[in-house]
Amino acid sequence: MTKQVLIAGGGIGGLAAALACSRAGWGVRVFERAGEFSEVGAGIQIGPNVVRVLYGLGLEAGLARVAAFPERLQVRNAVSGDVLGVLPLGERSVRLYGAPYATIHRADLHHLLLDALQQRSDVRLGLGCWIASFTETPEAVTLTTTDGLEVEGDVLVGADGLWSRVRELLLNDGPPRVPGHLAYRAMVPQNSLPERLRSQQVTAWLGPKLHVVQYPVRSGAWLNVVAIVQGSVEGDLQSWDHSANGADLRAALGGACVPLRDLIAAIPDWRLWALCDRPPMQGAWQQARGRIALLGDAAHPMRPYLAQGAGMAIEDAQALARSLTMKNLDVGERLQRYALNRWQRCARVQARAIRNGEIFHAQGVIRWGRDTALKLLGERLLDVPWLYAGP
Ligand SMILES: Cc1cc2nc3c(=O)[nH]c(=O)nc-3n(C[C@H](O)[C@H](O)[C@H](O)COP(=O)(O)OP(=O)(O)OC[C@H]3O[C@@H](n4cnc5c(N)ncnc54)[C@H](O)[C@@H]3O)c2cc1C
Repeated sequence: MTKQVLIAGGGIGGLAAALACSRAGWGVRVFERAGEFSEVGAGIQIGPNVVRVLYGLGLEAGLARVAAFPERLQVRNAVSGDVLGVLPLGERSVRLYGAPYATIHRADLHHLLLDALQQRSDVRLGLGCWIASFTETPEAVTLTTTDGLEVEGDVLVGADGLWSRVRELLLNDGPPRVPGHLAYRAMVPQNSLPERLRSQQVTAWLGPKLHVVQYPVRSGAWLNVVAIVQGSVEGDLQSWDHSANGADLRAALGGACVPLRDLIAAIPDWRLWALCDRPPMQGAWQQARGRIALLGDAAHPMRPYLAQGAGMAIEDAQALARSLTMKNLDVGERLQRYALNRWQRCARVQARAIRNGEIFHAQGVIRWGRDTALKLLGERLLDVPWLYAGP
């Protein structure tokens, strides 16, 4: 009989896992608490390590239709506007890492995954299904939703994000931490901006105590901008969305160079998130136990300063599907193999993201050292071969 994987959460990680596991011959049921499948209106960068996995899932043509493929990533000083370093992407990324560097609207990536899943007869997608608990026996795992629905399967994957219920039940290791960084996000049609503010490349403007990243999405027709500042917000951190006050952001960027201030001023609507993460993983035991595995933000929520949170979720999906096909192992051993394959790489990415944040927001002499190093060694410092060539 076909083995069944139950997936809690229909975000990018959960849908990628569903597609990978289905392609690996497993029956799949996805349980999403929301009433419809949707994604927040923001962009993400997807490095060549992730684009390769998406190509392997059959999404190459879809990505070509909706993603943007910037030719370079440039780093600029947010105050002087000086270009500090440049990493060529495009053809260099294909040559060195086997795939381009892409930038995409999260909803577009989510739709690509959903479309692919809807063509597969062995996948059932459940909406309005809020996972409340699970029980495990040597033979099976059974999940229960808040409506009292009980479903049995061979494996339960917690892909239920930062505030994961599955993680809470499995590890009981407390809530995510709040590092005191806020993300303002916006997307605007490029043709609504003056010519000089439009851009088809990735640009990171570095602080002190803040940074701003901009890149094209929707085949280059829209510009995505995310500004990270230090601070805190009131209210429920479990909700993605907080009311955004563009005036606060403009005040925080008061000392920035004119082109950056002009860009921020040209964008009318912002949304605000308080960022959360967890410390880097400490062992495979945090990613899988028995018949339960964690994936994506449920396993290793990270600061977005290496632009790899969704990327690691997608890599997790591929690794999970590969492990589940190891027929000489029992199900628990297959999940252990998955966890062993993933935890160190994810911990390394989490740690590097924290370090990047410190560098991006550096002040005083450290900031001077950062800028000098980038001017001398830009391409070498900006490239991340262990990440882009892996896993
Ligand atoms: C400002 C910012 C910028 C970022 N930029 C990038 C980037 O450039 N590149 C990149 O790769 N990543 C980036 N990320 C990270 C990326 O957004 C996340 O890592 C990624 O979305 C995680 O996907 P996920 O599927 O694991 O979790 P989520 O997207 O959170 O999905 C979890 C799903 O589970 C559902 N759910 C939750 N609880 C339950 C339950 N009990 N029962 C059923 N369903 C449940 C939720 O409704 C949701 O649909 C960024 C993040 C931020 C905040």
